[in-house]
Formats: sequence, structure tokens, C-alpha cells
Amino acid sequence: MIIVLRREATDDDVKAVVERLKSIGCEAHVSVGQTRTVIGAIGDRELIQQLPWEAMSGVEKAVPVLKPFKFVSRDFQSEDTIIEVRGVPIGDPGLCVVIAGPCAVESRDQLFRTAEAVKKAGARVLRGDAFKPRTSPYAFQGLAEAGLQLLAEAREEFDLPFVAEVLDPRDVDLVASYADILRVGTRNMSNFTLLQEVGRQPKPVQLKRGFTATLEEWLNAAEYIFKEGNHQVIMVERGIRTFDTAARNTLDVTAVPLLKQMSHLPVIVDPSHSGGRRELVLPLARAGVAAGADGIMVDVHPTPDTALVDGAQALLPSEFTELVVQVKRVAEAVDRTV
Ligand code: PEP
Ligand code: MN
Repeated sequence: MIIVLRREATDDDVKAVVERLKSIGCEAHVSVGQTRTVIGAIGDRELIQQLPWEAMSGVEKAVPVLKPFKFVSRDFQSEDTIIEVRGVPIGDPGLCVVIAGPCAVESRDQLFRTAEAVKKAGARVLRGDAFKPRTSPYAFQGLAEAGLQLLAEAREEFDLPFVAEVLDPRDVDLVASYADILRVGTRNMSNFTLLQEVGRQPKPVQLKRGFTATLEEWLNAAEYIFKEGNHQVIMVERGIRTFDTAARNTLDVTAVPLLKQMSHLPVIVDPSHSGGRRELVLPLARAGVAAGADGIMVDVHPTPDTALVDGAQALLPSEFTELVVQVKRVAEAVDRTV
């Protein structure tokens, strides 16, 4: 059962609900969000349901939840969550947000050339990583704080908020002090310590789907973040591993409408990491938007053949400009603007 407090509920109201739960031998998980507090009641369902929660001071509603994830489910919140990032609403049913930039920040010149181009083409958010999860420990690992500084400069120069990956719980405060959105990557979707840590800081979090994760596992990972008090979670479908090895991954288009049914959180599609090849990015981006994604996130690089990471899937700025034109048409067909 989830007990949702009113916006104007006081600390004493929260305390009274927690005490009531304890008095019947149940546990209370209090999650303090930006706009309201919610309490997850864990224990004997029958016993909890019998009590008149809605009669208690400060309580708006008590919602029974049958799924293992509670706060992120549609049962808990029927309206879509819309996350404002420096004036850009992510999750707005009328809008499809385009996020673009290099996979990794490599240099000022590379980042600024890309940021200028994607801004001009219509991107609303910049991507670029300063910490890269690499399969080989000898591969380029990112510029760390120097990369975050360049991203912050690009944000000012081009008026673009940015998202950057955080790999390690020890770096959460550092990345959060620069980035507008933190990203937990596919390899870390089940790093529960990292999920808790990003749940305890105030910036929105993009949560990529683990490449072997079921939707239920993915939503449970989001629940970890939510439960710590951070209610601003953006789900990113980036392709999963299937029996087919023809492409880097298989974009699970079905996940988009399913997730929208199961959860109130925004869903973004990453066509670049899904296909892993330049020529697949445009069709997969169109498919994501047609399926109802709240946005797309695309790798762009001014010289993909010299890219230190993921060059094969990076679009040239001119290709990205064409992609935005085409995605706009698809968005219009499903009643959204870009
Ligand atoms: C990325 O977006 O650059 C990235 C590393 O993605 P993923 O975690 O999906 O592999
Ligand atoms: Mn990448």
C-alpha cells in the first residue's frame, strides 16, 4: 500500500502515519519528493487495508499496489511525470525532446563544434560523458572533471542543459555539481549502491535499461532511486541483447508503450546504442518516436572516423540535422511537436 500525503501535509502528519503503521507491526518507507511525500507501507496487506488512512490528517489517498515496484507504477500515479530541466519539459505528452551530443567529451573543439551544430539543428539537451564505462580497461576512460567543466562551458555558450554519466557512487556529488541530468548506464542498472546514491541527490536521473534486464527489473531499479526521495527518473531504452548478433543490440520498441502503461515516468529511446551503426540511427529514431517515446538521445560527432568512443554509430552534424527534420514529421503524425 502507498499512502500519498497532501502537498500541505506537515511533518507531524507524516510522523503520525509512520507511528500508526509501526503500531500494527508494519514498516514505513518515507520518500520526501520535491512536491509531496509518499509513504510505502510494508507488512500485512489485509491489516493495512482495514485502517481508514484517508481520514488521517494530511493524507490524500491510500493506493493498494500489487506489483513489486510501487512508487514508479501507474497505480501510484495516473498522470504522466513531467520533468523540467532548465525550462525543457521531459515527459510532456505533447512534446518529443531531442537530446544529442558526443558519446564522450574528447576536447573543447570536438564538444563545442558538436554542441553548436546540435543546437542549430533543434536539440534541446546536450549529451556528453566525462566518465566512460569501457569494456577494455586500456580504452579511453573519459576526461573526468575536466570534461564536466567543458560541458558546463558549452551549456553557457549554447544555452543547452546537459546530461552526463556517473559510473561510481563516489563521483555522484561531483557529477551532480555540474550536470543538469545524471545518467546511470546500462552496465550499472543493477548497481544498487549507485542507484541509492543518485536517489539522494536533487538532479534528475536518466536510467538506461540493463542490456539483459526485464521491464520489471528495470522498473525496480527506478524504484530504488525513487524510494530515496528522487522522483525525477527518466527511463532510456537503448537496446537489449537478443539471439541476433546482426546489430550491436536490438531496440525493444515494444518496451516503449508497455512502459508507458506500467509506469508514469518519461521514456526516451537511444537509437545510437541500439543499432550501433550510423545507417540504423534514423530508422530506429523514427520507430521510437512512432511508438510513443517522450524523446530520443542521439550520438553526434564532427569527425566520427577519429572518435575515441563509438564512432561507428555517431552521426555527422549534417546527418543529425536531417534526422531532426524527419523525426519532426513522425512526431507530428503522433500529435507531438519536437
Ligand atoms: C552512452 O550513452 O554513452 C552509454 C555508455 O550507453 P549505454 O550505457 O547504453 O551503453
Ligand atoms: Mn556510447
